[in-house]
Amino acid sequence: MAQQRVYLDNHATTPVDPRIFNAMAPFFTEIYGNPASKNHSFGSEAKDAVDAARRQIAGLIGAQPKEIIITSGATESNNLAIKGVAEAAAAGGVAERNHIVTLTTEHKAVLDPCQRLELSRFAVTYLKVQENGLVNMDELYTATHEKTLLVSVMHANNEIGVIQPMAEIGAFCRQNGIVFHVDAAQSIGKIPVDVTAMNIDLLSISAHKIYGPKGIGALFVRSGKPRLELRPQMDGGGHERGFRSGTLPTPLIVGLGLACELAGGEMASEAAALGGLRQKLLDGIMAGLDHVTINGDMEQRLPGNLNLTFKDVEAESLLQRIPHIALSTGSACTTANLEPSHVLKALGLRHEAALSSVRFGLGRFTTEEEVETVVEAVVQAVTSLRASALISNIS
Ligand SMILES: *Cc1c(COP(=O)(O)O)cnc(C)c1O
Repeated sequence: MAQQRVYLDNHATTPVDPRIFNAMAPFFTEIYGNPASKNHSFGSEAKDAVDAARRQIAGLIGAQPKEIIITSGATESNNLAIKGVAEAAAAGGVAERNHIVTLTTEHKAVLDPCQRLELSRFAVTYLKVQENGLVNMDELYTATHEKTLLVSVMHANNEIGVIQPMAEIGAFCRQNGIVFHVDAAQSIGKIPVDVTAMNIDLLSISAHKIYGPKGIGALFVRSGKPRLELRPQMDGGGHERGFRSGTLPTPLIVGLGLACELAGGEMASEAAALGGLRQKLLDGIMAGLDHVTINGDMEQRLPGNLNLTFKDVEAESLLQRIPHIALSTGSACTTANLEPSHVLKALGLRHEAALSSVRFGLGRFTTEEEVETVVEAVVQAVTSLRASALISNIS
């Protein structure tokens, strides 16, 4: 009998919710007009669908529809936000400000644009986090100064699930005239986000982390005063108020919109269910194994995330033993090279401990039975790996 496969890698990507897939389908074959075509009903019916989706996206984060810029995903949104603000400032908007503050635990899609800006006239402070993965607010206050243009802090971390204090950072930035960008790829639809209450200026969104299609996302760009200057990264037909040119992919946008609406409506019940399943997973593993530690704060944390270190076990070997179970040893975007996760190292984990860590990502479709399967498989694999290490040490 084939082993039951279990997908517990929902931070890397999620399956498309069948309700979303069905809603997208007619926009490939029937409602195929270009939303920018103003002179016929093929175009206007596509535009109506895009407008409706824009309202759904805005609704999830407390924004206005006109503040939503469609992009290809959170990577592009982060690039547009960070480089866009920096380049607009360099071009004269806020010429005297050339300093950026971010965290060492950010996603590469934030760290790499920051590093590129360091090649020009920008200085970047990469703030360390505390042992629990959370930013120390006093250190953030100290790191900023009159030249600080931008603070970019992710809402929820993609590896350890910890949730940063958005409202506090936002209030501080607003008071000091600093632009506040948030990578919210892991948080929207999972925990409440309110760009107004949190004083967020720019917020990156991805559809494929919330059961929508890959290749679509959005950047929230605050409107109103003081005016936010942002230099487009893609020039062309002037779509998306000039911020991001390119023909809008109507089916994907419809998918993103519905993903936002469904996630918003089901957030509370889903979080409660995921919290229960995660507790079951943790209890099961802790009951079956010694020398297991949790990475990241357990209170300020996404309900579907768990990250554990299995002492004396190579995480890569562990995952090889159980290929029917989808887990991750770090961010999916950094697994090409076997460097330990930069996030775990930032928590102060030693090289070996970081390489002994596994991320569990539960999602909308995870069942109790699947959690039981994972507990059993992980406990068995860790036990046998430790036993064989012991034998090879003796002989
Ligand atoms: C997945 C992810 C991204 C990248 O999003 P894409 O839409 O795949 O480009 C960026 N930041 C975080 C925190 C993520 O989890």
